[in-house]
Amino acid sequence: MNVHVQGCQVAADGAPKPVRRENGQREVFCGLTGIVWLHRKIQDAFFLVVGSRTCAHLIQSAAGVMIFAEPRFATAIMEEKDLAGLTDANDELDRIVAQLIARRPEIRLLFLVGSSPSEVIKLDLSRAALRLSQKFSPAVRILNYSGSGIETTFTQGEDACLASLVPAAPPPRTSEDQLLIVGSLADVVEDQFIRLFDALGIGRVQFLPPRKAAALPAIGPNTRFLLAQPFLADTARALEDRGATRLAAPFPLGVEGTTAWLRAAADTFGVAPALFEAVTQPHRIRAERALLRYRVQLSGRSIFLFPDSQLEIPLARFLSRELSMQLVEVGTPYLHREHLAEELRLLPDDVVLSEGQDVDLQLDRCRAARPDLVVCGLGLANPLEAEGMTTKWSIELVFTPIQGYEQAADLAELFARPLVRRAKLVA
Ligand code: SF4
Repeated sequence: MNVHVQGCQVAADGAPKPVRRENGQREVFCGLTGIVWLHRKIQDAFFLVVGSRTCAHLIQSAAGVMIFAEPRFATAIMEEKDLAGLTDANDELDRIVAQLIARRPEIRLLFLVGSSPSEVIKLDLSRAALRLSQKFSPAVRILNYSGSGIETTFTQGEDACLASLVPAAPPPRTSEDQLLIVGSLADVVEDQFIRLFDALGIGRVQFLPPRKAAALPAIGPNTRFLLAQPFLADTARALEDRGATRLAAPFPLGVEGTTAWLRAAADTFGVAPALFEAVTQPHRIRAERALLRYRVQLSGRSIFLFPDSQLEIPLARFLSRELSMQLVEVGTPYLHREHLAEELRLLPDDVVLSEGQDVDLQLDRCRAARPDLVVCGLGLANPLEAEGMTTKWSIELVFTPIQGYEQAADLAELFARPLVRRAKLVA
């Protein structure tokens, strides 16, 4: 166990916000979880987890409710003899992939997803992907990434997946600046942003991940990218390695975050302030009006965010500034100071931030504070509910469309609902 507190470099208005760092036992899901939303986003991709029965159970139970047709994910289960090195796991993997591609000719992109067991036996999935790509390209592109639970948190699966797509993206065909939105968004949210960028005259906007494998965005020195999710450190680095430039902005959660996020693109692409105002104002007014009733319900209520989804800091900014909630502690698994600099500036000066986790110590702090609402992973929610606390599962925030103006009130409702439910139970 290792805990220490130190000042971080990000200053709001000069004053550094201290960050409590913990490096103890953690309660988080692994990166395989990302498959649940990524397989819905990239419509002709298939995710083949190379893992154990535990991995298969995790994916099945996380995504089980969404299986209505042939799923686009599966687990190639490594048996004990594979783990003991008694068979050639590569031969077995080649056989399974050949079978899968023969049976599912619509697959255009196949991800071999590494797991803790495949990493333990050091199965080299990047070589496997290369070998299998040579065999099946151009019909099927085969890439690999790790969804392993060793030292990761569940949203890192998306980061690893998107980072694996970057080297496969084509170079730009034009030297004109192009906007790229990075991070998976629900299609409905993506469509709203396309309409807004269109109205701002920013032109053709590309998205990573794309909805179809063949529509990988062109990436090069003329790419200006906006992160739509705060957990994409490796993807951003891979994009920067291809010459792309990140536009610094808060994340598009709530009215304020969405406006600042859009403004970062508008400023870069030379959109006139009057046009920006004209395009965004009606959306802002409507969203602010929709937020009003939730502000009445949530204002002054205290909230404790356990580190889980990596959305915690942008959420805390939205909850404190747009809904007037009181932040007891804002935990995040990792604090990416550069990507979150604009968010950190907007947090209250006295905010208590923590990075990493020592779950027992953090539970003690939470119990002592008795917040009105706790945002945490599934593993902590049940015990805390049993102790009379009101909880919100952080994983729901990743599965639900929450970005943009139209979703600002839906996002607020996600926090109001558990409090309403608890009030009804008590009444
Ligand atoms: S990758 Fe590791 S942590 Fe995730 S389900 Fe498989 S064994 Fe568990």
